[in-house]
Amino acid sequence: AEAHRFAVFGHPIAHSLSPQIHQAFADQLGIRLSYETIDAAPDQFEPAVRRFFAEGGLGANVTMPHKIAALNVAAERSEAAIRAGAANTLTPLVGGKLQAHNTDGSGFVRDITERHSLDLRGHDALLLGAGGAARAVAWALMDAGVQTLTIVNRSPDRADELADAIGEPARCHTRYWDDLEGKCFDLVVNATSIGVIGGSFDLPMSILQDHSTCYDLCYGAAAADFKGWATAAGTRYFRDGLGMLVEQAADAFERWHGQRPDTDPVYNLLRQRY
Ligand code: NDP
Repeated sequence: AEAHRFAVFGHPIAHSLSPQIHQAFADQLGIRLSYETIDAAPDQFEPAVRRFFAEGGLGANVTMPHKIAALNVAAERSEAAIRAGAANTLTPLVGGKLQAHNTDGSGFVRDITERHSLDLRGHDALLLGAGGAARAVAWALMDAGVQTLTIVNRSPDRADELADAIGEPARCHTRYWDDLEGKCFDLVVNATSIGVIGGSFDLPMSILQDHSTCYDLCYGAAAADFKGWATAAGTRYFRDGLGMLVEQAADAFERWHGQRPDTDPVYNLLRQRY
């Protein structure tokens, strides 16, 4: 019998680690599947998705630049997807409809609380960015019980929109990038794409304390810029987004297969290379 078909849609997508991660989970649990990459230009995303599921596809992950479009092709949307305004997981429903979900926030929190053993309750967190990934992470940080969440973004309106959507002004508010002097944070999360497309982390080093953690959603070479800033600012705890990548994949995998993989061996294998 043909193996059950899964895929990740993106543009570009050739270097995605998702096929390898899902295949490793499947091998671990004795599940047979095929997991391919599908490169679709923005105007081809919806037809390509429809074709994939019409041909029997059983689940799709979605990455840049299609995460907002993925929300729009779906007839049903999970709360996590609605909150993020973006989806990274599509699952077919009976009757050819699709369900959109987002595992970026849950993957981030699982990585930080379980792999890195950081209890977020009571933390003052700073979030850089207000794009799709930042929105998922902001809600997840609130749910995980941070004491305060400060959001800064290059375009301040987007940060304000996110804070308004969260709607807890006593805990979650925005500031301007250049208005962080004198503030201190336990956790600073980079959810911008500066490491991928260029830009600079122009932040006062005094925002970090001895125990503060810096977390970059990027990994590999794309994490170099923020790591450079964090290291110069004296952080002893720098984490990159490789663990989040594996955990968001595990959350999608569990949704599709009903079994939770052990993420540590897959993370450790990838860690040797990234
Ligand atoms: P978006 O394009 O939706 O958002 C990009 C964000 O970066 C916006 O807040 C944007 O600000 C900001 N930004 C871009 N360039 C600059 C600059 N030069 N200076 C300051 N801010 C800038 O991207 P995503 O939210 O989808 O992804 C963000 C990052 O997270 C990506 O690098 C991606 O690789 C990573 N990621 C990692 C995951 C993982 O599993 N490890 C999962 C998902 C994402 P503005 O609003 O002003 O444009």
